[in-house]
Amino acid sequence: MDYFPIFIDIRAARCVVIGGGEIALRKAEALARAGAAVDVIAPVIRSELRELAATTGGACQDRGYEPDDLRAARLVVAATDDGAVNRAVSEHARTLNIPVNVVDQPDLCTYIVPSIVDRSPLVIALSSGGASPVLLRLLRERLERMFPAAYGELARLAGSVRERVREVIRDGDGRRRFWERVLEGPVAEAAVSGRMEQARAMLHAEIEAGTVAADRGGEVWLVGAGPGDPDLLTLKALRLMQRADVVLHDNLVSPQILDLVRRDAERIYVGKRRSLHAVRQEGINALLLEHARAGKRVLRLKGGDPFVFGRGGEEIASLATEGIPFQVVPGITAANGCAAYAGIPLTHRDYAQSVRFVTGHLKDDQVNLRWPELAEPGQTLVVYMGLVGLEAICKGLIEHGRDPATPVALIERGTLPEQRVITSTLAGLAERLAATEVHAPTLLIIGEVVRLRDTLAWRESAVDSGGGA
Ligand code: SAH
Repeated sequence: MDYFPIFIDIRAARCVVIGGGEIALRKAEALARAGAAVDVIAPVIRSELRELAATTGGACQDRGYEPDDLRAARLVVAATDDGAVNRAVSEHARTLNIPVNVVDQPDLCTYIVPSIVDRSPLVIALSSGGASPVLLRLLRERLERMFPAAYGELARLAGSVRERVREVIRDGDGRRRFWERVLEGPVAEAAVSGRMEQARAMLHAEIEAGTVAADRGGEVWLVGAGPGDPDLLTLKALRLMQRADVVLHDNLVSPQILDLVRRDAERIYVGKRRSLHAVRQEGINALLLEHARAGKRVLRLKGGDPFVFGRGGEEIASLATEGIPFQVVPGITAANGCAAYAGIPLTHRDYAQSVRFVTGHLKDDQVNLRWPELAEPGQTLVVYMGLVGLEAICKGLIEHGRDPATPVALIERGTLPEQRVITSTLAGLAERLAATEVHAPTLLIIGEVVRLRDTLAWRESAVDSGGGA
């Protein structure tokens, strides 16, 4: 190890910044965040830096650096563009045994400042010792994603009751176990998902009981997994996927996404066939209840968004009745994912002032839609589950007055590597499809906006336009 990592308390300590420019300002800001009194010395000092120094209780000297300037310093930062000054500061500080950092000159430093992920009071400090700043940045970005902003709140909450826990749970091992379960259980989950009041109340109850609720009840997470591309998962979805004990998933959740679920979670496939829908749905509801009652963290992973043609509402209704805690995490719905990846804006000032999501499901071999409304121009229609009813939908719209030349795009396996887009017109689509093998899932976008794909397609080239118009 080239450097010994420490965190220094510099509250109200005098820290000296030599330099008056942009970089000096950034260093001074960092010192100020940790509560230092910042003195600034430079012939020319920016006004922001001057103000900052004053707010911290530090002083500014509008002149060149002098050796005496370091005398009372706890830490020194040199941020000038004058090599001789930087060297002199470094030498004096070493003689006085005061830690010194010279910006971008590691050989003149006796300490370096790590890159940080700040979830105060929780702080992660990182350094590559100058070996690879880019690798360091990538690592920091990953950590930023891994720890939601609310981790700071959680740490503060834990800190606020530490003494009380010490009084109630006297044995050190017991206390460690208590904290481990609190910080992995429902209290942490509530805090991290922004339900601070609930987290606080649960934690207080658990302290006074001397046990952790994780031992008692399970929870269900109804999570949208997006349209297929794993990169389109939300951070929250990913976090819950990595904490689940049981996962219930169906056809629309891609294997690549399932791979991201915690390795040792139990996986239950509850794929639905259209005709068995009703029966199966009750079965799924029952499974959710059963596992949650057994104290499990149950992940119900659904394609797209759980509240868009996802029966998400039905699945949590029984949980709500039974008093089982649950969370709902939105996902990118197929319409948004397919539109973006096909280069089709769903609204556009010139072509579409509104967009509707409709289901093209057949009921008694009929598509029952409000045709006159849907046939209005100036709107984009997105048809979910339409492959069987496609022909009927195009025909119905034309019969109710929508222009037969209205462009349409059928997006097959949108956002996945195999995505394919078939474009045609309302009048031409059926014929075009008769000559093509199409694989589920598919989504149909109808409206003038489809034309924009000619210039906006970015995923594949826009050469698949079919005839039939
Ligand atoms: N809750 C989901 C929709 C479920 S209904 C969501 O918000 O996206 C299932 C229908 O969604 C499919 O029949 C298909 O029309 C559409 N769909 C889902 N994923 C898709 C994808 N990757 N590409 C095209 N269509 C998709």
